[in-house]
Amino acid sequence: MSHPKSPSDSPHPPAHFMTSRRGDSSPPTDPDELLKYLEGELEKTRAQLLQADRLATLGTMAASIGHELNNVAAILAHTATFIRTHAVQGKPPEPQDLATLDRGVAHLAQHARNLLHLGTPAQDRPEIFDVMAVVSDVITMLGVSGRTKRVNILTHAPPAPVRVTMSRTKLEQIFVNLITNAADALVDEPAEGRIIHIEVHADHERRRARCVVEDAGCGMPPEVLERVFETYFTTKAPGKGTGLGLWVVKTLLDAVDGTIEVESEAGKGTAVRFDIPMCS
Ligand code: ADP
Ligand code: MG
Repeated sequence: MSHPKSPSDSPHPPAHFMTSRRGDSSPPTDPDELLKYLEGELEKTRAQLLQADRLATLGTMAASIGHELNNVAAILAHTATFIRTHAVQGKPPEPQDLATLDRGVAHLAQHARNLLHLGTPAQDRPEIFDVMAVVSDVITMLGVSGRTKRVNILTHAPPAPVRVTMSRTKLEQIFVNLITNAADALVDEPAEGRIIHIEVHADHERRRARCVVEDAGCGMPPEVLERVFETYFTTKAPGKGTGLGLWVVKTLLDAVDGTIEVESEAGKGTAVRFDIPMCS
């Protein structure tokens, strides 16, 4: 009689594990242990992909913020030259030049804060916050970085704050991905049609915070729609998309007992609806 848990009765591990069975990290042969091992490996891969998406976002943001910083630095350098010229002539600086300096410095500080905010792992801890506050932060951050320069974002805020408990950074990552997708979908639309609607409302009965990010952009045919949550699935040109965005969004939502639904029609537009538990 064979014992179901006996290693000799278990199916052979997949070939790629057979070939890597050298050294200390070789996978166990016992089925239970193997399952645990594989779950651990899956968790590691998941964490790496989440980080990859964060870094890709950070990379494109850093590039566009770098561009912005350059512009601000040029303005500051110009203004400093005016002030210096005045000083050489024994004249006080013009009030508007001083105001430009103040604005420029405030601008630089804002950029620095945005960059710090985006990459801080410390902010991965769960916190209680208002969803709309995150939406506003993300809109500012994307605007400053130039990612949403050509679109209008209209927010439909709830009458009272909708509070949730999760990592603020992760909810930011969700909105960054959904809003950049919507902005990408709108690039070929005429200027007046480049609008993204973001709606947040509280479903008090079910204790859920419901969010919608909607665009009337290019939309998706069914064969694209059915693959959007796959890792590395992208229809964008190399360098424009990683194909991780919606996978990340879904993974982050799954982790907080959230749900997501994508409705889309080619040539019409897309609505992404998701919800997360509201705090009591
Ligand atoms: P990426 O944006 O890097 O391509 P995502 O996972 O965010 O990866 O999206 C996967 C694909 O889903 C996109 O390449 C695009 O084809 C499609 N998609 C996602 N959001 C939208 C949208 N709002 N409108 C049209 N297509 C979209
Ligand atoms: Mg994307």
